[in-house]
Amino acid sequence: MNRDHAVVIGGSLAGLLAVRVLLDHFDRVTLVERDRFPAGAAFRPGIPQSRHLHVLWTRGMELMEDLFPGLEETLIHAGAVELKVPADALWLTSAGWRTRFDLARLLTFSRPLLDWAVRARLAASPSLDVLEGNEVTGLLPRGADVAGVALRSGEAMAADLVVDATGRGSRAPAWLGTLGYPAPPETLVDPLLGYASRYYAIPPGFDPGWKALYLQADPPATRRTGGLFPQEGGRWICSLSGAGGDYGPTGEDAFLEFAKGLRDPVLYETIRDAEPLSPICGFRRTANHRRHYERLPAWPRGFVVMGDAACAFNPIYGQGMSVAAISALELDRCLRDEPDGLERRFQRRVARSASGAWLIATGEDLRYRETEAAPTRLRTRLINSYVDRVVATANVNPRVCASLLEVIALSSPPASLFSPAVLARVTANRLRSP
Ligand SMILES: Cc1cc2nc3c(=O)[nH]c(=O)nc-3n(C[C@H](O)[C@H](O)[C@H](O)COP(=O)(O)OP(=O)(O)OC[C@H]3O[C@@H](n4cnc5c(N)ncnc54)[C@H](O)[C@@H]3O)c2cc1C
Repeated sequence: MNRDHAVVIGGSLAGLLAVRVLLDHFDRVTLVERDRFPAGAAFRPGIPQSRHLHVLWTRGMELMEDLFPGLEETLIHAGAVELKVPADALWLTSAGWRTRFDLARLLTFSRPLLDWAVRARLAASPSLDVLEGNEVTGLLPRGADVAGVALRSGEAMAADLVVDATGRGSRAPAWLGTLGYPAPPETLVDPLLGYASRYYAIPPGFDPGWKALYLQADPPATRRTGGLFPQEGGRWICSLSGAGGDYGPTGEDAFLEFAKGLRDPVLYETIRDAEPLSPICGFRRTANHRRHYERLPAWPRGFVVMGDAACAFNPIYGQGMSVAAISALELDRCLRDEPDGLERRFQRRVARSASGAWLIATGEDLRYRETEAAPTRLRTRLINSYVDRVVATANVNPRVCASLLEVIALSSPPASLFSPAVLARVTANRLRSP
C-alpha cells in the first residue's frame, strides 16, 4: 500500500482518533465531516448524543492521553472535575449502595469539551486537511478494491486508505454492495432504552459530601437509571434513562416525575429546586448493534470501518469512546505490521476490541424482559447470576470492587471476574450472607 493519502469519514471521536494515528503513517490525511465544526466546546448536530451524560472510563482516558499527551491537563484547565471513584459518588447498584472506597480516578466533562480539546490538538498538524460541511456519498472503486471517496460536492478524492467513522448511521454495507461485496451479518440487541437529559446549575456552596449520583436500575424489577454528574462551568448534567420502552421523558413535569420514580429519592430531591440551564433533550437510538465485517469472506483493500459504525453499544454502560480509542490503537499496530492484508486484520481486531464491552452491555440488557434479541441463553443467565454476586460483594469488599471497576472501565477483560482471588471473596461473601 502506498502511504501518500488517507481519508477519514466522520469527525467525531472515532474519526479524530483515527486521524491522529494515520498522521504517523501517511504523508497527508483528509478528514471529511458533514457538519461545520464549532469554534469552541459547543454542540453540533452530527453528534446529537453529546447533550447526554458521557463518561470516559480509565482505559479510554489513558489511551487518549497517550495519543495526545497533556490532554487531561487541558480538560482540567477547562474545568473538568476530578472524581474519586466510588468515594465521591453515591452509587446505588442493583445490590444496594456501594461502599465509598477510594479506588480510582475519573475526570468528568461534557462531550463537546472532549471533542474540542482533541480537535484543537489536531488543528496544529500541517499534514491534515479538514473538509467541513461536505459529505462522502460513496466509495471509488479500483476493481474490487477502494481507491477513494465520492463527495456530495461532486468531487472524487483519491486515497490509499479510507476509514469509515460515520457512526451508527454508516452506509458502509451499501457502499460495499456497490463493489460487489455481500452485506455483513449483523447482531442487534435492543433494550428499548431512551435518555432524557438536562443541565442544572450547581448551587453555590453545595457540599453534601458527594459530587456525583448514579442510581442504577435493578432489572427486571426496575428499569430506570439516573445519573447526576458535575461538569465544567459549575453545572450538573442530569441524564435519566429507562429501558423496556419506559423512555426518559422530555416534558418538564414528566422529567421530575420520572426522577421521583428512581430507586432512591436523592436525585429528585437534588434537582427539584436546582436552576435548569437547558431544555430537556431526548435520545432513543441506543440499541447494541454490531456489524460483523470480520466474518465477510472477502474484503477490499483500501477500506476499513471503526467506531460506532462497526459496533455500537447501549450507551448506558459508557463504552463507545473507550472502544473507539482501543480500535485506534489497533489501527496503529496494523499499520506498523506486515502491510499485506492489514484491512482484514484490522476488522478482526476491531471485533476483538469490542467483544468484552459487547458481552457486558448485552449481558446486562438481556436482564430486561422487553429486550429485543434472540432468546436469552442459559449461559447468559448463569453468568448474570454470578455477576449479581460479584456486584453484591463489590459493594462491601474493596478488592472485588477494584476488579469490577477495572472490567467496567475496560482495563481488564470480563473473564478476570472469574479469577481465583475474586471467586474466593465472592464465595466467602455468599456464605456470610446467602
Ligand atoms: C445518549 C448517548 C450517551 C453516550 N454516552 C457515552 C458514554 O458515557 N461513554 C462513552 O464512551 N460513550 C458514550 N456514548 C457513545 C459515544 O457517543 C460514541 O461511541 C462516540 O461518539 C464514538 O462514535 P463515532 O465517532 O464512531 O460516531 P459518531 O459519534 O456517531 O459520529 C459520526 C460522525 O460522522 C459524521 N458523518 C456521518 N456520515 C457522514 C458522511 N457520509 N460524510 C461525512 N461525515 C459524516 C457525523 O456528522 C458525525 O460527526 C454515548 C452515546 C449515546 C447515544
